[in-house]
Order: sequence, then C-alpha cells, then structure tokens
Amino acid sequence: MIDIYKTMKPPITYPVNHYVVKVGNTVYQIDAGAEPLKHDSHRPDYVLITHWHWDHTFGLTGAKDLDVCIPKKSLELLDPDKPLERVRNIILAVEGGEAWEAMKPIVEAYIGRYKPISVAIKEQNNPIPLEDCPPIIKGEVSYIECPGHSEDHVCYFIDGKAFTGDNMAPGWNITLIDPLSYISSLYKLMSVNWSIAYPGHGEPLDRASATKYIVETISSKIKRMCKAAASIENGIRIRDLMNKIYNENLSEVMRYVAARSLIGYLKNLETLGVVRIRRESYPWIVEKV
Ligand SMILES: [Zn+2]
Repeated sequence: MIDIYKTMKPPITYPVNHYVVKVGNTVYQIDAGAEPLKHDSHRPDYVLITHWHWDHTFGLTGAKDLDVCIPKKSLELLDPDKPLERVRNIILAVEGGEAWEAMKPIVEAYIGRYKPISVAIKEQNNPIPLEDCPPIIKGEVSYIECPGHSEDHVCYFIDGKAFTGDNMAPGWNITLIDPLSYISSLYKLMSVNWSIAYPGHGEPLDRASATKYIVETISSKIKRMCKAAASIENGIRIRDLMNKIYNENLSEVMRYVAARSLIGYLKNLETLGVVRIRRESYPWIVEKV
C-alpha cells in the first residue's frame, strides 16, 4: 500500500510529494512535505528524509515524538546558522561584499524559515542518523547517497519502490549544486533494481520513463554547462558571466538560485580542467586554463 500526499505553502508555488508506505505491519513515511503534518490517520513508525530542503522537511513542525531517520549531513545543514553562511558565501563569490550587506536582511528573513524545522527535528522529535536507523539495520529499507541537487541527498528503496526525492522531478526544472555528482548519482540510482520511482515533485515513473527523464535532464544540464564554458572570457566576474547566461529578468531569490547553479557548473568545469576560479578576493574571477 502506498499513499501519495501533495502539499504546497507559500513561498513555494508547486506541489511537493511525500509518501506513506505500509510493508507488513510497519508504516514508513518518506519526506514530510511543505505543510505541518497531521498524523491522525497514518502515524508512521519511521519518517525517512531524502534531503534537508525546506519544502521536504517543514511538515515535521506539525509532528511530535516521531522517529525521524535522516542523513547526518542533513542534520548539520539544518543547523540554523549553516544556511545563512552558505548563502552569504555564494552572494560574496558572485556579487561581492557590498551586495551582501544590501541583501542580508532579505536573506535572514528567508533563512528564518529553517529555524522551526531545526527545532522540530531536534527537540520535538527523535532524529536518528541513517546508520542507526532500525529498518535500515534490519535491511527492510536500503538507501544510496545521491548528491547533486543538494550535498546531503539520499534515495530510499522499500519493497521494490525507489523514493528519489529531488533527483527526479518530472515537469519541474530541478536545480543542481553539482551537475557531475548528479550524473553519477543517477547512474547509481539506475543500477539498483526497482520498478517504480516516486519523485519529490511530479508523478511516479516506471523504469522506461525514468530513463527518458534522466537522458533529457542530463542533456539539458550539459547544454547549460557548454553555454557557461562558451561564455567565459578571461578574467570575467561570475556576476558578469551570469548576466550573459541568464538573460531573463530574475527576482532576487531566483537570481540567488541561478548563482548557486552557475557556481556548481564552474566548479565542475574547474574539476574538468577547463577553467580556473580565482577565490583570493570577492567577487570571484573565472579564467580560462
Ligand atoms: Zn530540494
């Protein structure tokens, strides 16, 4: 038995999936959604979290005394000071110090949304790192690390079903912080024997549609990386590169998301030996090798 729940709460404007699966006498819930959970009818034995992002974890603010199996990295990222530091580093790298001072209040308000989640997981409920999670120890649930969309991301496998979180999101443009890791995560995911994938957004996929989704998604990300490589002039600031690549008029938040993705592409191009990023001062400068 599997029940699919879709939640949506501003500022997000797209539905987020979470799932409740019953195997034998055990009820598992995968992710917690964007609205506070109400567990009157299906209180799970375990909640399994795919990654730390707000739209997949905020639901825990409505939960009490649940066993929440969660990657150690996700717990670290949910430390209230961590997200602020990460956003600050990205804005400094792209825009420099003055822009950071101007954007700080907006960012602080945005990041404030993570504080109740951190409290909900660590104080209201019982967080269990994956290596100590009883159904994982017993082999009833397995998982693989799937970084790329976020650094802490994992996919779970229960009873022939794959719970892929934001590694797959048909109908939605997924953002990546590390495209090369994402590609290897998807190969890993396809090497596991499952029959249906349940994504973080959008509808379930059988293996044939999952393969199609993966090919299309990877090719669009590689196209974007080619565009970034082709737009680099020697000594270009990331901000100027961003204006060349994303010519749309982006809101503050979307500009930040685009900057985060662009830094991911540039770090990958650096790994591949195509560019060098000069990080000695802000904003960062990109050079051809
Ligand atoms: Zn996400």
